[in-house]
Amino acid sequence: MTHQCDVAIIGAGTAGMAAYRAARVHTDRVLLIEAAHYGTTCARVGCMPSKLLIAAGDAAQAVREAHGFGVQTQAPRVDGRAVMQRVRSERDRFVGFVVDTVHGWPEATRLMGRARFLDASTLDVDGQRVAAKSVVIATGSRPRIPTGWRERLGDKLLINDDVFDWTDLPQSLAVVGAGVIGLELAQALHHLGVRVRLFARSDRVGPLTDPELQALSQKLFGEALPLTQNAAALDPVRDGEQVVLGGERFDALLCAAGREPNLDGLGLEVLNLPRNAAGHPSLNRHTGQWGDQPIFIAGDATNDYPLLHEAADAGRIAGDNAARWPDVHRRPRRAPLAVVFSDPQIAIAGASHSELTDEGADFDTGRVSFADQGRSRVMLVNRGGLHVYAERGSGRLLGAEMIGPAAEHIGHLLAWSVQRGDTVQQMLSYPFYHPVVEEGLRTALRQLHNDQHLPDPPLEDCLDCDTSAEVGA
Ligand SMILES: Cc1cc2nc3c(=O)[nH]c(=O)nc-3n(C[C@H](O)[C@H](O)[C@H](O)COP(=O)(O)OP(=O)(O)OC[C@H]3O[C@@H](n4cnc5c(N)ncnc54)[C@H](O)[C@@H]3O)c2cc1C
Repeated sequence: MTHQCDVAIIGAGTAGMAAYRAARVHTDRVLLIEAAHYGTTCARVGCMPSKLLIAAGDAAQAVREAHGFGVQTQAPRVDGRAVMQRVRSERDRFVGFVVDTVHGWPEATRLMGRARFLDASTLDVDGQRVAAKSVVIATGSRPRIPTGWRERLGDKLLINDDVFDWTDLPQSLAVVGAGVIGLELAQALHHLGVRVRLFARSDRVGPLTDPELQALSQKLFGEALPLTQNAAALDPVRDGEQVVLGGERFDALLCAAGREPNLDGLGLEVLNLPRNAAGHPSLNRHTGQWGDQPIFIAGDATNDYPLLHEAADAGRIAGDNAARWPDVHRRPRRAPLAVVFSDPQIAIAGASHSELTDEGADFDTGRVSFADQGRSRVMLVNRGGLHVYAERGSGRLLGAEMIGPAAEHIGHLLAWSVQRGDTVQQMLSYPFYHPVVEEGLRTALRQLHNDQHLPDPPLEDCLDCDTSAEVGA
């Protein structure tokens, strides 16, 4: 039997679900194909359960740090079973909502099975044929495992998926990879009392590209948890029920050494689609089209900003255009925004420092350290720094990098300003409450304003020129 449709979507994750909704606006002849299970990576094994684990870790850490305020407590006793019970049950609740949504869609528009291209308009799905006028690839990504580690370590090699099915916390864990996922999980488990060591393959810790802030990141996380840098030539071995790495023994090894797009096994070799030098899809991110055939791609499969909101946007664009084919529309994309839920948090809004320097942008940097920032000191979270980058001459905000308190919120303000095309002057004319961490952002903007010799902001007022306002003087 051959399923005939206008749009076939491969993968029912965040990007695939967004593509499905957008395509259904144009036609009912849409087929959403899923190889494993509904529920999305985000809800099952990604954003949501990792934040649940981090929230538990933060609660334990707050107890440990209470003495700094004069509040004496006992060391927290972490009930690993209760922690994991909450993580799993809340995770299941989130997954349940997603599964219910997909099950609410007509059965005739869904197909379970692993899809593979036979040609640009024909798929094989576990022996069934699908004929589609256009196809959206939304197959996501998976953890990259170094060659031989799986064979060598067997069930002692873990990936993020495994962590969220634990019924109890391990005694000890080696975490390999100091990118976003490795950093978040290692620190959460460290806060929960697991003996963790984070192995960074280079000296870099976290995603910041600004050399000064990257150095600060290395210092702060080196103080925050056991960290081994420049551990590129890692050679983990299994010894009975333990893993030995860097001379230390652990219950298991969590591999968070990057992710790779799920593009193998899709039969793409028959399509001859363009790739960039790194082998990733050369797609048009404003249309979602990959190459010049009616093939569209979205989400982590593209390797382009592997983040939830980007997957949803890209899925919407790809699904809409797949259904419109050949009348493809260009869509705007939002200002980039990435957040790491570490302690301290990290955010990159708009263009990163390395993007600006790579493209030869002419920009000035405004800086603030949170060490002496008023509200941050009040809260005992006065660690970190923020750099804001503005175009020289016009004062237009181009981007920012930050490690420090409330980065998840300040990152949003900055990304919104980048997208609006705000200048530093305009940003200084917006209200800043007192006392808040955002006053640190104002200090960095003022520095830019002074360095760039820009005219005074429209709402000129003496407080705006007075840094003592930060401490209520
Ligand atoms: C631990 C972790 C934490 C994260 N935290 C955050 C965060 O805090 N914020 C954030 O923005 N992002 C976060 N992310 C990233 C975010 O989860 C992803 O960017 C997003 O889920 C990608 O969605 P997707 O639709 O591309 O892929 P998925 O949701 O993975 O969907 C892909 C689907 O395709 C299916 N599939 C694959 N191959 C085939 C095939 N051949 N045939 C049929 N179906 C197939 C898969 O089974 C899967 O269901 C995190 C990720 C991880 C792993």
